[in-house]
Amino acid sequence: MTATPTPTHARPRAGHDTLVVTITPSHAQAYGQCPLYFSAVYQARPPHLATRAIQRGRHVHSLIERYTRALIEGHPLGVDAVIARVPVPPAFRDGGDDEQEAIDHARVGLRGYETWLEERRFATIVAAEQYFRTPPRPVAGVDGAALVFSGRVDLVALTRDNTLALVDFKSSSILTPEALHRAPSSFVYRHLGMWAYGHDDIEISQVVPATGHEVSVRLEPGHVEAGAALCRSMMASIKEQSFPARPGAYCAYCDHAARCPAFAGRGDIASTAF
Ligand code: SF4
Repeated sequence: MTATPTPTHARPRAGHDTLVVTITPSHAQAYGQCPLYFSAVYQARPPHLATRAIQRGRHVHSLIERYTRALIEGHPLGVDAVIARVPVPPAFRDGGDDEQEAIDHARVGLRGYETWLEERRFATIVAAEQYFRTPPRPVAGVDGAALVFSGRVDLVALTRDNTLALVDFKSSSILTPEALHRAPSSFVYRHLGMWAYGHDDIEISQVVPATGHEVSVRLEPGHVEAGAALCRSMMASIKEQSFPARPGAYCAYCDHAARCPAFAGRGDIASTAF
């Protein structure tokens, strides 16, 4: 019999009987695509090693963070000054073409961000790479578990009509407006923004800095109800360690299709964790 994997994001609460379930935007997004996929990626496996593509993306994020913090502190830095202050990821540090190519790639991303920020004309830039974590709280309909939302927001800003904008930077593709409305991650980001800033007029955005491509949405009550229902279902799944497969369009891109009984069309797929 295979041992049940220890969830990385669900821990017994010290001194309490309840299990504390932590939901991040990416966890919710993965669970919304398919509970079995979520289990495979976030429960049963050690963290992924950062590929070169991931390191490249993180580098651009670090540059944007440095650039934005300098702006917030009132001592703006130009693109080249920021690039000089943020080291290139280890995988690219060869002192030669590889390193130069990484710097050139980062420069395109940061220049794009600079242009996008100017054109966006926020009233106030509030924070860069801000980490949020709500205190545990019970959720109606899910006994024996408490919910924590946590996550990092790439950029927090106030628009000129006093909307709180929470921006997620992406390295290439972003969701359509319809998909971003329905995205479980949008629900989690919105909740984090409401909790941290007491603001209920919240805009969720995805932006590709290099191109300035942007999608921004405000969630309607129906999206909020659907997001809350998904989080309740996710808490129950984690508590019961039950992750049914939900085959759908995402299967075509799923890293775990080769190990998935639903995808292979074999056997009973309900309540099966990797
Ligand atoms: S192949 Fe499809 S059903 Fe199977 S884990 Fe992936 S997304 Fe879920």
